[in-house]
Amino acid sequence: MSTQRFPVIFAGHGSPMNAIEDNRFSQTWGDLGASLEQPKAILCISAHWQTGGSQVTAMEQPKTIYDFYGFPPELYQQVYPAPGSPELAKQVQSALGPTPVVLDQAWGLDHGTWSVLMHMFPKADVPVVQLSLDATQPEAYHFELAKRLLPLREQGVLVLGSGNIVHNLRLLSFEGRPLDWALEADARSKQLIETHDYQGMLQFPNSSRAARLAVPTNEHFLPLLYVLALHQEGEELHFFNEDVSLGSLSMRSVIIG
Ligand code: ZN
Repeated sequence: MSTQRFPVIFAGHGSPMNAIEDNRFSQTWGDLGASLEQPKAILCISAHWQTGGSQVTAMEQPKTIYDFYGFPPELYQQVYPAPGSPELAKQVQSALGPTPVVLDQAWGLDHGTWSVLMHMFPKADVPVVQLSLDATQPEAYHFELAKRLLPLREQGVLVLGSGNIVHNLRLLSFEGRPLDWALEADARSKQLIETHDYQGMLQFPNSSRAARLAVPTNEHFLPLLYVLALHQEGEELHFFNEDVSLGSLSMRSVIIG
C-alpha cells in the first residue's frame, strides 16, 4: 500500500467577485489547480454551509448556489457543473462515525466552493461533495472531527477548506488599505500556523482585541481547522495569497503535503 497522501488546502475565498475576476487571487488558484495531480474527488468544507448537526451533500448533480446579494448579473449566470459523488458522501458519513452525518439532497455547491474551484478545476470534471459546519459545536470539536477525514487523503481525495482567517464584513474598507488590527491578526495567525501551534490556533478567535475583530463569528475561521487537523508529521506547509484585501479580509491560504 502506498502511503501517498493528497495535499490539503485552505483557501481564503474573499469576495464572490473573485469567481469572475482575473486577479492575483484567482490566478493563484488556477496555477495551483494546474500544478496538482487530478484528485479523485473533492471534499469541500465551506464557511457558507452551517447546519445543526453534520450534513454531507449526497446528490448526483449538485446545483450552483448563489448565496450572495447585490452583485452584478454576470455572477448569477455562472454555473459550476461538477458532478457530486454519493459514494464519497457515504464514505465521509462512515469516516465521521459515530458522529451522525445526514446525507443531504437539498444543498449543492455554495460560492465558498465554486468561486475557488472554477479557477482551480475549470473543466468541472472532478466530483465535488460538501461537508457542512455543525454550528452548534466549538472550535476543538471541529478540529477533532476533521482528523477522521485522513483516510480520504490516502484515497486521492482533495480536502479543501474555504473561508477567511480574518473576516469582518462590517469593517470592510473599499480604499483597500489593510486595517492595523487586520494585519496584526493575520500576522499572529501566520505565526501560529507556521510553528504548527494548532492548539494555540483553537484559542485564536478570542486571544486578543485584534483576533476578536478578525473573527467576529467563526464560520469563516472553522474551515481552516479542518485543514490543519489533517497535517501529518513531516509534511511541508506553504502559504499562498498572503494578502489582506478590502481592509479586513485576509486571503491567507495554506497548502499542506
Ligand atoms: Zn465567504
